[in-house]
Amino acid sequence: MIDLHTHSTASDGQLDPSALVARAASRGVQRLALTDHDTTAGVNEARRAAADHGIQLVAGAEISASWERRTLHVVGLGLDIAQPTLVAGLSRQQAERDTRAALISERLARVGLEDGCARARSAADGGQITRSHFADLLVADGLVRNRQDAFKRYLRPGRPGYRRTEWAGLADVIGWIHAAGGTAVLAHPFGYGFSGAWRRHMVAAFADAGGDAIEICTGVSTVEQESQSARDARRHALAGSIGSDFHSPEQFWLDVGRVRPLPPHVSLAPHAA
Ligand code: AMP
Ligand code: MN
Ligand code: MN
Ligand code: MN
Repeated sequence: MIDLHTHSTASDGQLDPSALVARAASRGVQRLALTDHDTTAGVNEARRAAADHGIQLVAGAEISASWERRTLHVVGLGLDIAQPTLVAGLSRQQAERDTRAALISERLARVGLEDGCARARSAADGGQITRSHFADLLVADGLVRNRQDAFKRYLRPGRPGYRRTEWAGLADVIGWIHAAGGTAVLAHPFGYGFSGAWRRHMVAAFADAGGDAIEICTGVSTVEQESQSARDARRHALAGSIGSDFHSPEQFWLDVGRVRPLPPHVSLAPHAA
């Protein structure tokens, strides 16, 4: 079993890298990629844990990219995490996350969230601050019922706690991944709320920018979506990838390693371990 998209406490996952690897190993995952948002900080710990459990660890990251005034997620797999171009690129994204956290916090203060920035930073505990951290604060303060509601009412585009962010462009992000010897995978093509026409436009742009693969099977994809993604991949000569996007054991509807295998006629994107 393989799972090439998961999160730890290095970004918005709930388990630390060792606990994530232990859960994956106990569920029968033989090859696991750790792909935290804009960071590889959990990779070394995950690698040690994977060696203890006798499973393969793929060094990865899920990198935010700006495209057509929207944010896309590009999963890099098989990265040399010390490669200078990648390290410099990720540190710019991390600075952007810090700046954005302060701005989101200012906006949420107007709707009653106190001291958001410091509290989000302390919850992230040295890891990357994401909108999920603000979602949890909104829940904790009783401003919303749950995380979904926090995104719907406050954190989505057009809502009071949203701030558009200038991430690096698609071609730059793919370039960093390639510089680090990695494979660039367009994450969860059905996860952006795009129409079919926009989704196909995005896949074409990703292929044009030098991308290698698209994520076909995720923890929430339907069989119908998977066959559409397989068609999109074939049309643009892209390979496929599979990953649950596991964040937390509380997400009862998905789990690490719980992903269908690739549909026929699509090959798994090659990547280094
Ligand atoms: P960020 O990269 O900081 O903008 O945060 C994006 C993360 O927020 C995603 O990776 C998800 O984990 C989470 N997220 C985005 N939209 C939602 C949603 N509607 N409900 C729950 N979590 C979400
Ligand atoms: Mn996330
Ligand atoms: Mn994502
Ligand atoms: Mn993810």
